Order: sequence, then C-alpha cells, then structure tokens
Amino acid sequence: MQKKVLIVGGVAGGASAAARLRRLDEKAKIIIFERGEHISYANCGLPYYVSGVISERDALLVQTPQGMKGRFEVDVRTQSEVTRIFPMQKEIEILEKNGRRYIEAYDVLILSPGAAPVRPPIPGINDVEPFVVRNVTDIDRIKGYIDTQHPKTAAVVGGGFIGLEMAENLHVRGVETTIIEMSNQVMAPLDYEMAAILHDHIFNKGVNLILEDGVKAFTKNDKGTLITLQSGSEVQTDMVILAIGVKPEIKLAKEAGLAIGDLGGIKVNEKLQTSDPNIYALGDAIEVKNFVTGQPALIPLAGPANKQGRIVADVIAGKNSTYEGTQGTSIAKVFDLAAASTGANEKTLKKLGIPYEVSFTHSASNAGYYPGATRLSTKLIFDRKSGRILGAQIVGSQGVDKRIDDIAGVIRHYGTVFDLQDLELAYAPPFSSAKDPVNMAGYVAGNIISGDVEIVHWHEVKDMNPKEICILDVRTIEERKGKFIPGSLHIPIDELRSRLSELPKDKDIVVYCEIGLRGYLAYRILKQHGFTHVKDLSGGWVTYYPAVFG
Ligand code: FAD
Repeated sequence: MQKKVLIVGGVAGGASAAARLRRLDEKAKIIIFERGEHISYANCGLPYYVSGVISERDALLVQTPQGMKGRFEVDVRTQSEVTRIFPMQKEIEILEKNGRRYIEAYDVLILSPGAAPVRPPIPGINDVEPFVVRNVTDIDRIKGYIDTQHPKTAAVVGGGFIGLEMAENLHVRGVETTIIEMSNQVMAPLDYEMAAILHDHIFNKGVNLILEDGVKAFTKNDKGTLITLQSGSEVQTDMVILAIGVKPEIKLAKEAGLAIGDLGGIKVNEKLQTSDPNIYALGDAIEVKNFVTGQPALIPLAGPANKQGRIVADVIAGKNSTYEGTQGTSIAKVFDLAAASTGANEKTLKKLGIPYEVSFTHSASNAGYYPGATRLSTKLIFDRKSGRILGAQIVGSQGVDKRIDDIAGVIRHYGTVFDLQDLELAYAPPFSSAKDPVNMAGYVAGNIISGDVEIVHWHEVKDMNPKEICILDVRTIEERKGKFIPGSLHIPIDELRSRLSELPKDKDIVVYCEIGLRGYLAYRILKQHGFTHVKDLSGGWVTYYPAVFG
C-alpha cells in the first residue's frame, strides 16, 4: 500500500528523513512543507557568508526543491506554513504565502520544525528590531545591511557558538564588535576554565568582550542603538545581533495536544514517535535523552538532527532503528582557535549530583620537533571508580577536531580512560606524537585513578593560603619570570632532589609546573623521599592562569 508521508520543515532533519525514506520506499508519497523560501540550506555556514569566507550565496543552498523532485521524487512546497494538525482526522492545514489555505491528509506525519532564536521582551526591542541568524533570509538581511549601510560598530548579544561565529565574521569585515554575555563565560558547553582560554584569545583579537552583564534596554537614537546593560554601563552601536539561544518550535505540536517535555521540547520515545503514534518528531524541536547522564536534554545540533531524520525514515519503512541519545559532540571556530566538547560538562554533573573527577593536559598537536606544533588544552571528565569517560573539552588551534572525535567515539561505546590509553592512533611527526594527546589524557587520568598521583584543581589552589600550604613552582627561572602563583616557592625540577631540605615537612605541599608533567615528576620525587602530603596542580600554570587571572 502506498504510504502518504508529510514532513513539516525542509532543512536538516526534514530533508534527511525525506531522502532516506525515498531510498527505502520507492512508492511512498512524500511531501515536504517549508515555511521559508529555501530548503536544505547550510545553517551552519551562514555566519561565514557575512565575511565573504563563503563568497557565493548559492553555496549555502545545498539542495533545491527541483533537486529533491528530480533525484528523490519528493514534492517540496516552500513558502507553505503548516498552521494546524488534526490528529484525529490525520490531516494538516497549510497556509501558503499568497494567503491560500488548504488541507492535506497523511498516513504518517514528521515534524522537524527546528528551534527559533530566543527574543525576550527587553524594553525597546521592537524599536530596534535586532538581527537574528537562523536562515538564508536572515543572513541576506545582515549582509545587505552591512553592504549598504557600512556600519562601523556591532554588538552581538550572546556568547554561544552562533554569537561567537557572528562576532568573528563581523570583525573580519572590519566592523568593530562587542560581545555582550550575561554569564561569566562564553560557549556554555565548556566549563569556565576552558572558556577562559577563549576569553583571552577574543580579547587579543581586538573584540570587546563584556561578561556577567545582560541587556536591560535598547534605545534607538540618532547615532544608532544605545544598549543599556544591567550594570548601568552603555554600549552605543550601529547594529545589534541577538544570539542568546534557541527555543524549540512547539506551537503546532502543543496545539495538537502532543506531549511536551519539562524542558519545553516535543516528547518522543526511542523510535522518535510523539505521544501520537502516527506523528514523529526530530531535530531541534525535540527533547532527547542525554547519552551520558540519561536525563532529558535540549541539544540543538545538525549531526543529531540528520541522524534522527534517518532513523525516523527507517522506522516508518519498518526497520528496527532506535535513537540512543545525544552526547552533544560539537566544535566551533573562534578566530584562530577551535573549541570542542563532547558528553557532559562539569557544571551539569555537579548540578545532577553525579560523581566525577577531572584532569587537564596540554599536549602538543604534533611532535614538538616538527615545525608548527601548537598546544591542545584538554579537559577529561571521568568516573573515578570505573574510569568511564563522562565528557571532554578541547581548545587549541590544530587537531582539535580529530581528538574530540576520538574521545566522542570512546564515550559512545561506554569506554574508559584506559581505553584512551589503548587507542592505536595514526602517527607521523607532522600530525601527532607517538603518544597522541588523546593517549596522554588517558595516561594522566589513569594515574589519578590508580593513585600514582594526587591532584588538586586551580579553583582549590586559588583559595589556599600560601602561609599554611607550601605551593612549589618547579618550572625554570625563565618560565617563572613575572608569571607565578603568589606566595609560591621556586625550586626548578632539576634541582629538586638536591634542595629537598628547603621544603617544610609539617605542611601540605602543592607542586605545579607549566602544564602538569613536571609537576607530576616532582610529585613522584617528593612522595618517594618521604613527603606524605603532596598534590599536583592539574594542568599546571596553563590551566591556572586564564582561569584565575584571565
Ligand atoms: P532546521 O534545520 O532549523 O529546520 C527547520 C525548518 O522548519 C525551518 O526552515 C523552518 O522554517 C521550518 N518550519 C518551522 N515551522 C514550520 C511550519 N509550521 N511549517 C513549515 N515549515 C516550518 N549545528 C552544528 O551541529 N554545527 C554547527 O556548526 C552549527 N552551526 C549553526 C549555525 C547557525 C547560524 C545556526 C542557525 C544553526 C547552526 N547549527 C549548527 C544548528 C543546526 O543548524 C540545527 O541543529 C539543525 O539545523 C536542526 O535541524 P532541524 O531540522 O531540527 O531544524
């Protein structure tokens, strides 16, 4: 029997479901309804069109309605908004841009309406009409404004990945940019000390970064827009981009009586079926299960949306596919750095009361003796008893993507830090080291679990009184110059054995070096010379500095 499958939303999830379904079922009648002008556009590429890094607008249009028709025999109806679902009758109502309304019946309905930019009722917001970045029409508006009005300044409200990507591309266009972020850090999936590396970098690039201050009001004036912040400070700007997050588009689902989760996304089961078995939902609009914590989560990312599209098509075609959850593997370019994360972060685990341990490593992206090696700062989060990896974050300029993907793969298979040690990874000097940064992260975490080293973290050391605790810097004189933990004692690692008598026997000792390796060596030396209360500062000065002084 021919199945009639209607799809709401024709971009990441919707288009992916349609293409997979056609490959599995040549007979199905498939119709995509898309409110906007375009389908299957490259949302993720939009910011780069503003700067000209992506120079051709057509490059953003990955697939066209004609292409979907020719290759997949899918009927694509753009500028057609689905305005109502009648679940009992298995029908939907469509409103075309020209005002025509009509009804279409379905056997199966797929909802992939995505998530809309959050637009809070800040005083003055309607006078200013800040730009948002969701689709090609939005980016056309922004680019058109820059091309014709030549703004000198821009304010980006929100320091998530869309805000940061917009800030970078505006900066590349020569627009003096200010980022305004209400929390104490950019890039929420990262923990504070990892984001602090980005703060330094953004600042050094000449972008004004305002943290811990939200927008209180927008006022239109003859110079453009005046933004008044909660603190009372003001930012005068020629244009405003609002990028403070996205909210699942659930209006249709809610009005149709479909179950909505506590976080405000459409509720689905592991088959991605909503509370109505004839209606499936996927992508940014749904609540997923967090793969690591098992808790409901909103994780708006393209990879999961595309995969869910495939699974929905499989299920509709009678295959036994299930969605096992989203771990939130993501990466963003932030000027010359890449910031990536996977699994749960420390903030989330703390909130949920899930026990964890953390280690920091700062390995070189490739062999140190080969030109061009750069630093990869890695935070690994794991269960202290079993070693199961719960999450990871990496910031660096080269090779961040492959390392986060290695760890993401291990997390997906419920792997441990010991599995990271065992990974046999491709090596030649231009690409890595014989012990890859991922192996190193596994060794360091393994040492912590086995008790070969006891660590202490930057925020604990920050609150220590150097009069009560001996903080020992084992770096070279050069490394220490002007950059050290106040009150710390300095004994370079190579002199440590001969200067043990300078160390107090009655105090706890915290050792630190530049990145943690020599601190570990010092720890081993001290322990074997009878110093019982010793700890190593995880990640050394490189973790401590941006987090405490950045
Ligand atoms: P969408 O792709 O947003 O598609 C939903 C579509 O449904 C929209 O076109 C909308 O017009 C349409 N629609 C909604 N309601 C109706 C209705 N009632 N009737 C008809 N049509 C309707 N993710 C990453 O993983 N990596 C990245 O680098 C990345 N960069 C991004 C950059 C930007 C600027 C943006 C905006 C997003 C980015 N994302 C990125 C997120 C990613 O694009 C989304 O997670 C993904 O597109 C979600 O797919 P979806 O199908 O759920 O929704």
